[in-house]
Amino acid sequence: MKASEIHEFFGRLAAQDPEPRTELAYTNPYTLLIAVVLSAQATDKSVNIATQRFFKEVRTPQAMLDFGEAALQECIRSIGLYRTKAKNIMELSRILAHQFQGQVPQDRTSLEALPGVGRKTANVVLNVAFGQPTLAVDTHIFRVANRTGLAPGKTPRAVEDALLQVVPDAWLLHAHNWLILHGRYVCVARSPKCNVCCVRDLCAQARTLEPRAIAVECHD
Ligand code: SF4
Repeated sequence: MKASEIHEFFGRLAAQDPEPRTELAYTNPYTLLIAVVLSAQATDKSVNIATQRFFKEVRTPQAMLDFGEAALQECIRSIGLYRTKAKNIMELSRILAHQFQGQVPQDRTSLEALPGVGRKTANVVLNVAFGQPTLAVDTHIFRVANRTGLAPGKTPRAVEDALLQVVPDAWLLHAHNWLILHGRYVCVARSPKCNVCCVRDLCAQARTLEPRAIAVECHD
């Protein structure tokens, strides 16, 4: 995609949704971190259902330690890998309480050193909680970047690096949420809704399809 088209691409997503927000429920950087750790291989909706059981009571690492692993497990047992996630959350809470004065660190190295926190989770926290221009490439962003030709890549890291190279600074802060939401609601995995897609004329995949094929493809 040409630079002028990329600018147009994000301009249109911005016009539709000037202030895109994560769909994970959270109240502060710590609860965001917990929600993102829980969201690995789980939908935001399922995470929000689980976290509403304890986020009123638990909003700090020390409160989580007081709450306890067994109680946490009970709240999140509807989410995949809940035992491992509960263990990681207790351990990372212990580290934050004892080594970071209960605060979530704002640098990638410290975040990625926490149990259960990989590059993707760190990117979400840095972007959403601290306003840093990072991009966490999940399944939605991976699909949109490759289909559109915006930033093709064979791995999430390759797509992340490509996006960081091509997305203009002006759009970088919100690019993460715009691309996720576009992938979640329009450029969906099985039947992308090309007929109602605001960036259809800029999209590499749409250009390869006949108008009729697009109509069929887009029929949900
Ligand atoms: S035109 Fe279709 S394939 Fe391209 S971004 Fe839009 S929904 Fe996705």
